Amino acid sequence: MTHSRWSDSEAPVGDDLELRVYTSRLLGADPSLVLHGGGNTSVKRDETTVTGRPERRLYVKGSGWDLATIERGGFSGMRLEPLLELATLEALDDVVMARELASMRLDSASPVPSVESILHAILPHRFVDHTHADAVVTLTNTVHGIDLVREVFGDDVAVLPYAMPGFDLARLAAQELPKMLGAQTIGLVLMNHGIFSFGDSARESYERMIALVTRAEDALRTRAPRGVPAAQSPGGGQQTPAGTRSGDRLARARLRSELSAAAGLPMVLVSRHDPVASAFARASDVATVSQHGPATPDHVIWTKPTPLLGRDVEAFGAAYRNYFEAGAQRARTEVTMLDVAPRVILDPELGMLTAGLTAHGAQAVAEIYRHTIDIIRDAEALGGYRSLSPEDQFDVEYWDLEQAKVRRAAAPREQAGRVVLVSGAASGIGRACASRFLAEGAAVVGLDLASGIGETFDSPAWLGLQCDLTDPHAVSSALDAAVFAFGGVDAVVLNAGIFPLTQPLSELPAAEWRRVMAVNLDAAVELLRELHPLLRLAPNGGQVLVIGSKNVAAPGPGAVAYSSSKAALTQVARVLALEWATDRIRVNIIHPDAVFDTGIWTAELLADRAEHYGMTVEQYKRRNLLGVEITSDDVARLCVAMAGPTFAKTTGAQVPIDGGNDRVI
Ligand code: ZN
Repeated sequence: MTHSRWSDSEAPVGDDLELRVYTSRLLGADPSLVLHGGGNTSVKRDETTVTGRPERRLYVKGSGWDLATIERGGFSGMRLEPLLELATLEALDDVVMARELASMRLDSASPVPSVESILHAILPHRFVDHTHADAVVTLTNTVHGIDLVREVFGDDVAVLPYAMPGFDLARLAAQELPKMLGAQTIGLVLMNHGIFSFGDSARESYERMIALVTRAEDALRTRAPRGVPAAQSPGGGQQTPAGTRSGDRLARARLRSELSAAAGLPMVLVSRHDPVASAFARASDVATVSQHGPATPDHVIWTKPTPLLGRDVEAFGAAYRNYFEAGAQRARTEVTMLDVAPRVILDPELGMLTAGLTAHGAQAVAEIYRHTIDIIRDAEALGGYRSLSPEDQFDVEYWDLEQAKVRRAAAPREQAGRVVLVSGAASGIGRACASRFLAEGAAVVGLDLASGIGETFDSPAWLGLQCDLTDPHAVSSALDAAVFAFGGVDAVVLNAGIFPLTQPLSELPAAEWRRVMAVNLDAAVELLRELHPLLRLAPNGGQVLVIGSKNVAAPGPGAVAYSSSKAALTQVARVLALEWATDRIRVNIIHPDAVFDTGIWTAELLADRAEHYGMTVEQYKRRNLLGVEITSDDVARLCVAMAGPTFAKTTGAQVPIDGGNDRVI
């Protein structure tokens, strides 16, 4: 249920634009009104030009800004008059319109104005609010939508039939609205699209939006047996995978692998525990009701017009190509492989899954489609869900402006769409690796004994799991969770390890030897064995990065267990490079030395070791041929490079990162 979030004590005491920012954020805070950058708002202001002439101006939301987080700088100011002049044209190409709007900005540093700027200019009120409110879109997206809308809102709103967003919609509004708007009109409903409200103050326009949406929600509650859309389950973040079967793990990873092949790029595949979405995916009528298009044109580019039913990506591709060919004469842009990959997958056993180039993107699609499910269900109860025609969907999908958006979003970072697992990710080299891979666009699963691992990074692409790597059950459920969250594991950084107290073998207790071997060697081998089926399915080939040690090539006295465990692990990696090459899995080894910014090196210990060698701490840290200090981040950068295209044709390699060591060279 939507409600007014206006608060007298929180509302700013400032100019119109401050209030515009405030109520825009109030709209953005309610996911039943707008999702992920949807909706837009504006305010008209009387200002003075630099030469002292009075001038009416429109400040409208800039594209790329989200209402939930918008700031003053997120609005673009334009003179009102030339905008109204544009609306008198018979026709205008949307690309030309976008260019015109961009050039009209009073400040060229402000963002590109919303494509709905002209419509905002036409509405004769100072404040204008636009949302794709679930309840309103539910009413408009039904068989008898127009009658329902008239019944629910009466003369309080004007109603326009569906028109393509951009100039077509602005032109229609310019022609029709003067006849429709009366003194009592407080809003405008766009069929199959959304709703506008307007008023003379920020509060009036905002509260009219809330009042109109509340009326739509009340109508749904009385007319649709299921009532108003169910409360949204927690969006974003990862859900726990309780109840998944380990058989599902491979099914999900295989599906992701095929989707990525269809897209031509690695895609993250997000699952979620959501009883409503799972029931929808299993429903007997899902094959018909899910194929009628998105709730609003704004969602076309996120969800694609047609969710994939089941796991047959091939069949989907064929159906989608037909859809494309049907509209091909009007296509102004080439269809790309990425377009052919579905974003929403409804499978009776796996539930709802969503794909994206990033974890954030896939989670956004999940949230949007979750709202769509409620809208479809309610609209069905109202007599039948009807959305944009396939032709209208096609026009929006292959709209030059939307394609430009896709291209911007699709400029992927080097590790985009990939899933990297890092063991021992809470501190030191592991944490630095996780940080670097996240920065390069990967989704990262971090395993560690530390209990705070879940919160090590605040990112939708981060899944931190507390896990004892020597416990096979814990490892197995961690991998279930990883695949549930992101769809697979493409690369592993084997970093977890322990460095026991320095002791000669003659004094080393047998239990200590076994403990070091259990953690540094056995657990790593078990993890690799368990990961192998997933690494085989990695979209661009799997990767193993072993964090070895200088001690492998140049051992020192007193660390027999540690050195032997790393030497054995190196040998395991060399053998796997041979065994797994035909599975397109690369296995490489990195040998760091003297990385002191890790948990085990306290200032005290450093001072003690330096004194032992008769050096200062600074000298001790740079005790190598190049005389350089080596940090965890240096090692992480090497890991990311080895996982990237530069080393794409290298396997079985051992690369030192030690500042140069005469015993290794
Ligand atoms: Zn809209």
